[in-house]
Amino acid sequence: MNNITKYSPATPVTELSGVGRARAASLASLGIYTLRDLIYHLPRAYQNRGDVATLGGFDTERERAYVLTVATSVSSAKIKRGMTISKFRAFDESGSCEIVFFNAPFVKEVFHVGATFRFFGRCSFNKMRRLSMSNPKYEPIIPGVPLDDFVPIYPLTAGISTKILEKLIRTALECALPLLDDPLPEGIRLDNRLPSLSLALRDIHFPSDDEALARAQRRLAFDELLRFGLAVSITASGRKRGRGVKFSPVDFTPITSTLGFELTKSQRDAVNDIYRDTVLSTDEDGRTPAMARILVGDVGCGKTVCAELAMYLAVKSGYQAALMVPTEILAKQHFDEIYSRFTALGMKVALLTGSTRASEKKLIYEGAESGEIDIIVGTHALLSDKLEFAKLGLIITDEQHRFGVSQRAHLKDKAENAHMLVMSATPIPRTLALALYGDLDITRITDMPRGRMRVDTFVVDSGYRERINSFIKKQVVEGGQCYIVCPAIEGDEEDDGGLEGAIEYADRLRTLLPDISIATLHGKMRTAEKDAVMLDFALGKSQVLVSTTVIEVGVNVPNASLMIVECAERFGLSQLHQLRGRVGRGKRKSYCILVSDNKSEKSMARLNVMRTTYDGYEIADKDLALRGPGDFFSSNGGDNLRQSGGFAFNAAAMITDPELPERAFSAAREIILRDPALALPEHAALRREALAIAAPSSTIS
Ligand code: ADP
Ligand code: MG
Repeated sequence: MNNITKYSPATPVTELSGVGRARAASLASLGIYTLRDLIYHLPRAYQNRGDVATLGGFDTERERAYVLTVATSVSSAKIKRGMTISKFRAFDESGSCEIVFFNAPFVKEVFHVGATFRFFGRCSFNKMRRLSMSNPKYEPIIPGVPLDDFVPIYPLTAGISTKILEKLIRTALECALPLLDDPLPEGIRLDNRLPSLSLALRDIHFPSDDEALARAQRRLAFDELLRFGLAVSITASGRKRGRGVKFSPVDFTPITSTLGFELTKSQRDAVNDIYRDTVLSTDEDGRTPAMARILVGDVGCGKTVCAELAMYLAVKSGYQAALMVPTEILAKQHFDEIYSRFTALGMKVALLTGSTRASEKKLIYEGAESGEIDIIVGTHALLSDKLEFAKLGLIITDEQHRFGVSQRAHLKDKAENAHMLVMSATPIPRTLALALYGDLDITRITDMPRGRMRVDTFVVDSGYRERINSFIKKQVVEGGQCYIVCPAIEGDEEDDGGLEGAIEYADRLRTLLPDISIATLHGKMRTAEKDAVMLDFALGKSQVLVSTTVIEVGVNVPNASLMIVECAERFGLSQLHQLRGRVGRGKRKSYCILVSDNKSEKSMARLNVMRTTYDGYEIADKDLALRGPGDFFSSNGGDNLRQSGGFAFNAAAMITDPELPERAFSAAREIILRDPALALPEHAALRREALAIAAPSSTIS
């Protein structure tokens, strides 16, 4: 206690006792370097252990707390391969239950007959059809010492357990919280009935009850949204409507004649908007303002074609174009299409990603700088300082929600006068879109290419497993292909009660369907591996692809006819809609099966929206109403959580109040209106935070 004074929020975690080099490295992989980072490492969920169930009303669906007294002494036995199994019986006033621990012989010393514990686990029936609980969490009940009801679940990594992390966070809160400044102006805080920062941070980790938790989430979400709103405003006022280059009038026939289809009305309108912005539009001084436009349209509506026409316009006008997408798989797929189309038109196209070989990268840098390359398609690799353009006139980012504002702005640094087009497949409700894309003009694509068939959607529980498997087989036998999406990579025993991950799922399916080639894809694989797996699937060499949500973004395999989503209740509706959009892209009649064992009314109501609604905007609105705005800010499953440079909405991903974003964004507008440069002393901290998002590089100080 006496050395508390030597700590501040900026103190490196390595100063804490118990953090050596290995642990520091594990913490770093979670983005934790300082005490402040520890304090802001927010739980991703909570276990409510205060809500105690009884064995009479046992729950086999989910983990619950039970207060039980040990009835028998622990008996341990060795089973196969050096595993030990330890068992005893425990009871409460309504019944009794067998408690089982695997590979934990030490529990013999923990559980003595007559002692009472709070267990947290899922009840099931053993082979003898008797109630049983495996590997529950346990805490001794000590009279006079109350237990915490809400137990935080943190994003973890190898080498850091919940226990260790919790201890470090407690220390950080104790030492550094009193020294943390609250950047939120008092007036705004009170107007929005928000708690102080230090109270919110304490409660977000260790809430005493659900009210305290909700209050804390509201406050921290508000902060994130406000920062984001300020960053958007700063970026917008600093750059918007700068001068743009002028494109020349062109005839699109040479490219549209290669498409093999007619553009839809919305696609024509979108191209017209782009044409107007870049060719026709002038300000009072007769100059062309730089385009800053977002193209929003449901999955499969055909945004890529609009981008291609825009690139054609740029190159025909004597400029270069860059297309940035969030994943290598998507970059490769876009590149393949663009390469064949534009090469035939005499234009030079290059692909630049993190896995492009160094020698090839060098050639691309040279080609871009000399102007020899007309179009570059790539990932974040395009942000490299080594990439310079002779005459960059158009910057397109696809699937915008995966990039931060900063990255969008950063690419723009490469050519101040380039036009910018952003494409998003997330049908964001209007209220949020205005705030999130306040600096952009919006074009909406509202129709679909003709002849699209509806993807019939079913909601079933795992009792349908056998029927699902034969349906997979049927699809494959008929020549179709199937995606299966699981929420986790490996079954995560820490908190999911053995939820089946993509890897285990695929293994099991391989034994059940030995004649079918089943591939696995997840975010922890190397890029080259991922590409190879995806390519095999696209070429039809594998028929079933079991994956995490990495496939969600933009992937196009027209032969795929079946999408199965496991634990569907864990996904946002908009995300499910995105996943469903991966099938039904070709001529095959396609199906989507949502598997969920969660029978709660709320969950069923949500999933049933998917059965009856096929319009992305309608789904987004219903999701907003049913689940609150959190999903729109969550980073969509585990695979992109640590995407570099992107802005993470950690607290905002958990809020349920649909009005909070608008409140925060309007507070941001108010602040900017009064103090456009955030120059007032009371805005100094806000300014620092907003700039950190708007320009994470040190270019703006
Ligand atoms: P998204 O908007 O989700 O990015 P894509 O651009 O990938 O959609 O288009 C989905 C599919 O629809 C592609 O195979 C594309 O060639 C096709 N497509 C696009 N526009 C049309 C159209 N007007 N008529 C028919 N098919 C189209
Ligand atoms: Mg797309």
